[in-house]
Amino acid sequence: MTAAVPTSTRGGARPEAARREAVRARVRAAGLDGLLVTDLVNVRYLTGFTGSNGALLLAATDDAGSRFGTDGRYTTRAAAEVPDLPAVVERATALALASRASALGIRRLGFESDAVTVDAHAALAGAAEGATLERAPGLVAQLRVVKDDTEIEALRRACTLADTALTDLLDAGGVRAGRTEREIALDLEFRMRALGADGPSFDSIVAAGPNSAIPHHAPTDAALRPGDLLKLDFGALVDGYHSDMTRTVVLGRAADWQRELYALVQGAQAAGCAALGAGVPAAKVDAASREPITAAGRGAEFLHGLGHGVGLQIHEAPALSASSKDVLEAGMVVTVEPGVYLAGRGGVRIEDALVVPGSGPAEGLTGFTKDLVEVG
Ligand code: ZN
Ligand code: ZN
Repeated sequence: MTAAVPTSTRGGARPEAARREAVRARVRAAGLDGLLVTDLVNVRYLTGFTGSNGALLLAATDDAGSRFGTDGRYTTRAAAEVPDLPAVVERATALALASRASALGIRRLGFESDAVTVDAHAALAGAAEGATLERAPGLVAQLRVVKDDTEIEALRRACTLADTALTDLLDAGGVRAGRTEREIALDLEFRMRALGADGPSFDSIVAAGPNSAIPHHAPTDAALRPGDLLKLDFGALVDGYHSDMTRTVVLGRAADWQRELYALVQGAQAAGCAALGAGVPAAKVDAASREPITAAGRGAEFLHGLGHGVGLQIHEAPALSASSKDVLEAGMVVTVEPGVYLAGRGGVRIEDALVVPGSGPAEGLTGFTKDLVEVG
């Protein structure tokens, strides 16, 4: 069941208001009078608030009966970012909101039982006098899997920014023998920030030579050598949204085994992208990409799932893997990132972020070439 957020907002209404309406429908369907949102990512999604202490008491009726809570450090920020909800300013934000529930007519109050500790639950139950707390996991997360236009636009900008940083890095000669993995990671991150990113969207993976066969290698002081494969997995954070891309290049002319390995992964990646579509089981997309690698006898060297959703978190639903039960929907944004890793020699991974289409081919948000780049 997915009541999608309207993809366009008329009359300049904030997208957060449309998202709150969509959550309200779910709150009512669950038989609740309100939902206490304490997960900060969900609070941001529903209010626009970017501070470190905020919560939302969402009434099933309307915004007037709802409350946004934060503490005194964020009064100014909250007024700018959350102008459309009545605010409560108190240090123990979630408790302050819970204590107001019954006065606002909320008797059955859902809470995010997948994000609240046992101790916090006990404190909330004590504070919510006159209301009963009910488990309501995933109500906001279920909505977040399908991105609205504002979100896709932020992801598009984050992906384009990361593309540009990598192009600039290569054009400037930043990838060359003698430089270390750490230096290249720092250079890439500096370029993303200089281009306007709020930061890298996760710790960059820069892996040279045999290290490229380690899927999640952390950059070291190892210096690049001619003939190395160099795997770069990184992303930019823009307006809270995370891009994620991987490219593998060769320093100098590629050896035959590197060229063959690259072609295998490139074909698998294309097969995965082509399999994306609304109504398609995520496990089927994983299988479509894995098939050519398995056929080449390299199935055991594809060491991870095919991809994942990206958004306000770097890894979020849906999962693209053999064991996934998720079914794709139009407007999901997912990565497709097959890799083959030859231990002790080197590995290749190619990763794009794409928008799952309602029909036709998926829109790729990552623009950097997927053909083999020989550097220098
Ligand atoms: Zn990645
Ligand atoms: Zn990824």
